[in-house]
Amino acid sequence: MSDVQKTSGDRDPTAVKSLLRDMAEKGGALVFGVASADDFAMAPEGYRPGDILPGARSVLVVGGAKPRAGDWQSPNYQHMELSSTNDRITALCMRLAHSVEREAGYYAVVVPPGVDEGQRPFLSLALAAELAGCGSRSLAGPVLHPRHGFMYFAALVTTLALPCDQPLAQPACPAPACVKMYKEQGATPCTATCPIDSGGCLGGHIENDRWSERQYDRARCMARVYNYWGPAFQKVMAEVLQEPDIERRQMMINSSLFTRTLWSMTYANINQGQCFECIRVCPVDEQTRHPGGARNEKED
Ligand code: SF4
Ligand code: SF4
Repeated sequence: MSDVQKTSGDRDPTAVKSLLRDMAEKGGALVFGVASADDFAMAPEGYRPGDILPGARSVLVVGGAKPRAGDWQSPNYQHMELSSTNDRITALCMRLAHSVEREAGYYAVVVPPGVDEGQRPFLSLALAAELAGCGSRSLAGPVLHPRHGFMYFAALVTTLALPCDQPLAQPACPAPACVKMYKEQGATPCTATCPIDSGGCLGGHIENDRWSERQYDRARCMARVYNYWGPAFQKVMAEVLQEPDIERRQMMINSSLFTRTLWSMTYANINQGQCFECIRVCPVDEQTRHPGGARNEKED
């Protein structure tokens, strides 16, 4: 009998949660948290925990698999399109789901990492991570943890009622360094990199050290970000099918964009949703972005 099995037999939710947390951390998770399934009322109907699993009580969130220090330094940024994925953290979440079902004796469903109709996630991992206290949403889009910065998240929905965590009291964004820069220059590292008033996607105002106004041009960002993986495949194929010239068609199929797209699709079941340039300059986890800096981070 496993530890989870023994503990769940006693019906001690705190002890079961603690064992699941240990499993997650031993498996490489940097963060672990639990949100109540009832707290997703702001999610659209059809995209709440009970829509994935009837009788859902808790949503368990794990985060990790962040890019390594060297990845942020590499001038060949395209390699992130292949190497930076949520696969590892989703696989860990799957193992936790097996434990919840086989050992604790409750239903568990891993939230699919892809998207449903209209590019909408089956359940917002960002919302789940925020509610579970695993980070807070940044101006640049991703949920950031105050110490670990950007990472990938996975979540499982379960009928097991676990003690819940609370959202962070202090958001990770804007970081103190960003507030200082904003006061001096009227921009933060990410808004200076991708400024909405100069053809970019990000802008906003900081008051009392918090964002009082946020601007994010999602459509523009997506048009730039989705140039690899599944969406790029769809884009190139649509153009190839309409191209009457055989030689040009051949060139498009053999182009480096299409080749890289195919590599990224075969490498990962889902890829990142960022071009990374706004997060590359983000100072939140600056201390982990050099050799030895991540020494205190448990990582897979
Ligand atoms: S992901 Fe790229 S395009 Fe989108 S906001 Fe960040 S820097 Fe701009
Ligand atoms: S650089 Fe990072 S912390 Fe600073 S404002 Fe942008 S996303 Fe937020």
